[in-house]
Amino acid sequence: MGFQETLTYLYGLDRFGMKLGLDNIRALLSRLGNPEDGLRFVHVAGTNGKGSVCAFLDSILRNSGYRVGLYTSPHLVRFNERIKVSGSEIPDADVVRLTEEIRPHAEVLAEKNKARHPTFFEFTTAMALRYFLEQKVDAVVLEVGLGGRLDATNIVLPEVAVITRLGYEHTEHLGRTIVRIAKEKAGIIKEGTATWTIEQPGLEAIDERCRELRAPLRLVGRDLTVSRQPLGTDGQRLLFTGSRSWDYRISLLGTYQAENAALAFGAVQELRSLGWRISETGVRKGFLKARWPARLQLYGRYPAVVLDSTHTTEGAEKLRESIEELFPKRRVHLVIGLLSDKDLAGIASHLSPPCSTVIATQPRTERAYPAERVARAFGAVNSVRIANPVEDAVEQAISMATPADVVLITGSLYTAGEASLHLEAWWKRCALEVIRRLKKMYLPGDFKTAELDSALGKIAREREDPFVVLVSTVISQRTTDTTTEAVAGQLFARFSSPGELASAPPEVLEDLIKPANFYKTKARAIKNIALRIHNDYNDVVPEDMKSLCQLPLVGRKTANCVRVYGYGIPSIPVDVHCHRIPNRIGIIRTKDERATEEALKSLLPKEHWLEINELFVRHGQTTCLPIRPNCASCKLADMCEYNLSRMQIAQENVSA
Ligand code: SF4
Repeated sequence: MGFQETLTYLYGLDRFGMKLGLDNIRALLSRLGNPEDGLRFVHVAGTNGKGSVCAFLDSILRNSGYRVGLYTSPHLVRFNERIKVSGSEIPDADVVRLTEEIRPHAEVLAEKNKARHPTFFEFTTAMALRYFLEQKVDAVVLEVGLGGRLDATNIVLPEVAVITRLGYEHTEHLGRTIVRIAKEKAGIIKEGTATWTIEQPGLEAIDERCRELRAPLRLVGRDLTVSRQPLGTDGQRLLFTGSRSWDYRISLLGTYQAENAALAFGAVQELRSLGWRISETGVRKGFLKARWPARLQLYGRYPAVVLDSTHTTEGAEKLRESIEELFPKRRVHLVIGLLSDKDLAGIASHLSPPCSTVIATQPRTERAYPAERVARAFGAVNSVRIANPVEDAVEQAISMATPADVVLITGSLYTAGEASLHLEAWWKRCALEVIRRLKKMYLPGDFKTAELDSALGKIAREREDPFVVLVSTVISQRTTDTTTEAVAGQLFARFSSPGELASAPPEVLEDLIKPANFYKTKARAIKNIALRIHNDYNDVVPEDMKSLCQLPLVGRKTANCVRVYGYGIPSIPVDVHCHRIPNRIGIIRTKDERATEEALKSLLPKEHWLEINELFVRHGQTTCLPIRPNCASCKLADMCEYNLSRMQIAQENVSA
């Protein structure tokens, strides 16, 4: 089977419906050798916030050095999102292989009784567990699919259980009162297993189950409290207080993320008490780096384009609170599409007040409300439109928004998934537009290349020798382009091959490169580099990133320079300009140059990788200066966050 055929088979398992009960999954896993027995779990149930708690736990454990399997559902765009190891989705080939391996077992179970055929969720749960065992993960963060007691994931014995905030969802299966729903979720609690939850309605049912099973119950709100300080669209600062105080930052937006983070932190403390080595740095980095798509996910800031997937009444109330806090007094254009089993009136009552426009839409599923029905529910809003498909609705909202407005896209995961694909493409178009305009700004004829071109580019073009590029790049570290050029010229006039440089007396090398900063360290490094290339690589500079980065004073940026300018391999050498400018414009949001390289690579097609360094260097040296950039003469001014935010602040000052 190919990948598409495999997906068709897997989605076809939907015809076996949703079976609440553990007999099927037990039988299937037993035929597969019970992979769950070789794994350690954190099990997460609840109505709201499960995914975010899982994202925090996954990130914290990974940043503490654990290899983590993450199983979540449903997916937003691709099936593979459901099963991740160390942050990477399961490859297509493994989905195909595991489906072929598990399918005969599923069919044997169904031979005598068709009703025993595993469902889609049972099948994929078995696939995930088998994959995690193969991948030798140290820990699995496992999200319940529906409820808890009878959910297919409930065959595990976790180290700690987490129950997030409860709400009214799937009441036809779980019960119509919060206590009944709580009882179902409490089904994941096992004998003696510590359980973290929140002080909330329905708690008595969780408490009762914990008492029955002598499972210690810990509460956010009693054993651990959390207070938050919003940091605008940069995230939030959280202060936890328990046996002592802890101060962390998270990047996820939304007032409700504070209690999700507290639950994750509670679970981490529990794991620590069981002997897991979870470092303080791991927790800090894990909180900061945790991402969860389509939960107040920010695409742009001017206008702010926010992708969300709220589809419950409680969620809508929290979403409104978060939007009002993040973007006070800004006009909101809402794009919304919902499934027909949702409380449309309840959601509309919470989301109508902050909106100046509503664009009702209908995602591509028979289960969705018609857009007209959604539009009617938002009758209280002045301007209500209908646009199908979701992509058109998003496009309309973005085109009507001024830089000061907010475009909020929310509703079912189907709506979010369709919007997400469209926004990814839109974002890539924005990045390409930046490149297009920069190329127009810096036509060769308009530009005094000889004066302004980067020294590295010039040297490389003149010599085109990877060894020259490598040594010149080392010299250029913390040294001006003019000095680099002069020093490299002197050095190569005297020693032109790795062999010659390797046997050069150190004091001669130091003397030749003396005008460069840190010349003694660099002279030593150059000699060692030359020695390694002469002895280990037969005088040929290696092309691959790993070998290059093993040379003294060679990091990714230097290695990329060699690959680009020495070998013409598409890559992105990220220097200060290449990091500063796209972050200022807002097409990426990265903390360091390595992350910038990765972000730019995923944003731009390969054919532009070679030129973007040059373009950003030129722009950084002439217009987008580190201090006092010349925005008035910049052709990117109308799409640059840095400039638009300055204009917005100026406007606010005037109106104040
Ligand atoms: S508008 Fe200003 S900050 Fe933005 S890229 Fe241009 S010069 Fe740089």
